[in-house]
Amino acid sequence: MQFSELGLSAELLRAIGEQGYTTPTPVQQQAIPHILAGRDLEALAQTGTGKTAAFVLPILQRLTNPLIGQTGSPLQKVTHTAPRVLVLVPTRELAAQVLESVRVYGAHTGLRSLAVFGGVGINPQIQTLRRGIDILVATPGRLLDHLGQRTVDLSKVQTLVLDEADRMFDMGFIRDIRRIIEKLPKVRQNLMFSATFAAEVRELAHAVLKDPAMVEVARRNAPAELVSHSVIKVDQDQKRDLLLHLFAAHGWHQVLVFCRTKHGSDALARKLEQSGVRTAALHGNKSQNARTRALADFKAGKLAALVATDIAARGLDIV
Ligand code: AMP
Repeated sequence: MQFSELGLSAELLRAIGEQGYTTPTPVQQQAIPHILAGRDLEALAQTGTGKTAAFVLPILQRLTNPLIGQTGSPLQKVTHTAPRVLVLVPTRELAAQVLESVRVYGAHTGLRSLAVFGGVGINPQIQTLRRGIDILVATPGRLLDHLGQRTVDLSKVQTLVLDEADRMFDMGFIRDIRRIIEKLPKVRQNLMFSATFAAEVRELAHAVLKDPAMVEVARRNAPAELVSHSVIKVDQDQKRDLLLHLFAAHGWHQVLVFCRTKHGSDALARKLEQSGVRTAALHGNKSQNARTRALADFKAGKLAALVATDIAARGLDIV
């Protein structure tokens, strides 16, 4: 199947072509027609499956072309200042990444988008919100700040996306999400993406989604394909030396290391750095700037190792 068979507009096909993509991934093939038709959707899809484009492309299409989706009600084509699409994500990094996708795929649509998340100044976000946007990507905490200050109006939201829903639970955002959903119009399209169908995810799906189409592209609770796992048993005090040995022996140059604690990741990052491995630590105590820079440097190959707490464990797309 080709992208052109999905009924996407010329503007979107052009942006897809500019990315060098020709074939939609399975989640895109399955999800895009349902979303274009205006249906609610529950998708079991992990990072790396192309799930972001699976919701971003049809959303852009419905915002720009009100004639599409004959079986579902098209989104209203009215010039609003308030966002018509809200994408909720669990982490700042994912918010930035989803916004990037919205901008890349929406490059020729003229739609306006913004990501709001904590750790950076709120005033630039307020100014952009005031000028008006079509698509808002947000982490729950900062969005609640904006709601509290009445700097965002969610009364025009026609489509809600809950991305990485299972991760939202892991991070304790469920009450925030419920508070945000209360502020949305009752009639809207709801899309939920999750890497697992844990019981609480099912419960939220049941509460939020209306007669959803179901899309499943990964096995339940399965790790990403193409990843092989191995375990090395070693005494606690030998862990660092072993890791250094593995770096040296394999000539590793792009390695994500997970630590349980922020302190532990700082200590390990220092140790690696001292041994000549270009390293940065990534965790919640780092400023947003430092986190963004560490990730960019890692993606660009300037760092050989990124030592992270589980804030970076899911949803990051590093190629
Ligand atoms: P995601 O699952 O949304 O995190 O996407 C994983 C990666 O796949 C990203 O780098 C996308 O840019 C890329 N991608 C998305 N759709 C396609 C496609 N149809 N063909 C090739 N790559 C894609």
